[in-house]
Amino acid sequence: MSTCIFCKIARGEARSWKVYEDESVYAFLDINPVSEYHTLVIPKAHYENIFDVPEHELLRVMAVVKKLVVLYRERLGINHVQIINSSGREAQQDVFHMHFHIVPRKAGDGQNVVWRTHPEWREKFDAMVERLK
Ligand code: 5GP
Ligand code: ZN
Repeated sequence: MSTCIFCKIARGEARSWKVYEDESVYAFLDINPVSEYHTLVIPKAHYENIFDVPEHELLRVMAVVKKLVVLYRERLGINHVQIINSSGREAQQDVFHMHFHIVPRKAGDGQNVVWRTHPEWREKFDAMVERLK
């Protein structure tokens, strides 16, 4: 994809702060970090999101997520991370080249994700599971 910013970054055509690269995966610092070492891990090939990325590519990307969190723990003492993927506009995806965020977290960093929960929906669980059969 010639216009995709993450494709350009993976090809070295746009500036990035690389933390890892191999033949199929690229990882770099997020330009608008929510914490230090906020990192994006992408396949070099263009896939829009979790729905179209082939499983073997996804596994390669996830293996690099694992490699980096271990590196960050060893080198930086980071022991708390959130791994986030948004797939689809209504799921708050903004860049449509599949990526995982690694977001290092600390107590009191003010970045808590707050989800409204619906325990009353438990009464629908039987029917929900049934629909998948
Ligand atoms: P999304 O909302 O799609 O999950 O996340 C997109 C992320 O890409 C955002 O956190 C945003 O800061 C980051 N981003 C967007 N454009 C660029 C860019 O040109 N360079 C880098 N390093 N990050 C970018
Ligand atoms: Zn792309």
